[in-house]
Amino acid sequence: MSRPVPKPGVLDIAPYTPGKSGAGVSGRVFKLSANETPLGPSPKAIAAYKAAADALEDYPEGTSRVLREAIGRTFGLDPDRIICGAGSDEILNFLAHTYLGAGDEAIHTTHGFLVYPIATMANGAINVIAPEKNFTADVDAILKAVTPRTKLVWLANPNNPTGTYIPFDEVKRLRADLPPHVLLVLDAAYSEYVSRNDYESGIEMVATTDNTVMTRTFSKIHGLASLRVGWMYGPENIIDAVNRIRGPFNVSTPAMLAAVAALEDTAHQDMSRTHTEKWRAWLTEEVSKLGLTVTPSAANFILIHFPLDKGKTADDADAFLTKRGLILRALKNYKLPHALRMTIGTEEANKLVVAALAEFMGRK
Ligand SMILES: *Cc1c(COP(=O)(O)O)cnc(C)c1O
Repeated sequence: MSRPVPKPGVLDIAPYTPGKSGAGVSGRVFKLSANETPLGPSPKAIAAYKAAADALEDYPEGTSRVLREAIGRTFGLDPDRIICGAGSDEILNFLAHTYLGAGDEAIHTTHGFLVYPIATMANGAINVIAPEKNFTADVDAILKAVTPRTKLVWLANPNNPTGTYIPFDEVKRLRADLPPHVLLVLDAAYSEYVSRNDYESGIEMVATTDNTVMTRTFSKIHGLASLRVGWMYGPENIIDAVNRIRGPFNVSTPAMLAAVAALEDTAHQDMSRTHTEKWRAWLTEEVSKLGLTVTPSAANFILIHFPLDKGKTADDADAFLTKRGLILRALKNYKLPHALRMTIGTEEANKLVVAALAEFMGRK
């Protein structure tokens, strides 16, 4: 070959296709396709971001110390066991880069988050898929997929795009039965929205093992997706290894300071959680009444399943809703061609979707 050739695995990756952003529709558009908060970030986070504009010539503090300390105070964690990243996506890639190589295997479940296979294959490792049960991670199936080459298990809890979660007892059972050298990545991007008392985000498990990490994000409940901030809590050995490959200035100062302010605004988080719980219950009930199946969600979105009948499919519904400025997420690349994912929106957006779906289903 007379031109540069990507390393093995790279060209096997299906390019990530994000949800529609609404371009091409005239009139008002409600973007309910990317699990962004409809309530925006804390005004204090916006103020902190603007204030940081006075010193853009300076490199950020390289370890995100102020943010790690704020996270430490909030969750009662040792800041030395936290790494911040440009979104948790960056951290997921750090983990793959640190622990996966050619011929290694990494497991995720059927409808697992799409960043996992990308991070796995980008490092020449093999992507192994464990079947789910009722759109929910199945610990036995994950354990069955383990081979001598398994190095890592990706588990979003709750999962995107299904919205389902597994209780702490199941996570504990998974950890206990995985070989100790296998890294378990608990991706808790939606943990703030879970209101079940059998759930644990991962903090307790990370604190008591040396082979498990938990990742979190400022993109969802904190409403800072455009700034790209996430973090990981892990045991000393993993933090040490990942810090060696992390770029020295990977989180920008404005992003870091906005994230600190967001974390401290607990009233804003409470409001967002209350809004999500209320409208998640309402949407689940109203959409179900239309004869559509909704997978019970613990996150800030719902998964709606459509019939296979001509004129009533998920594709048809997507076109029908898009024409009305209601942008949901089609899930073909998540192997869910018959479903749409809807991010919980404002009261107005939620009511418009239910009214439009009623019309689509001929219930009006
Ligand atoms: C949104 C999301 C994230 C967060 O990604 P960022 O890079 O922090 O914006 C992580 N994991 C899952 C499963 C998600 O849905």
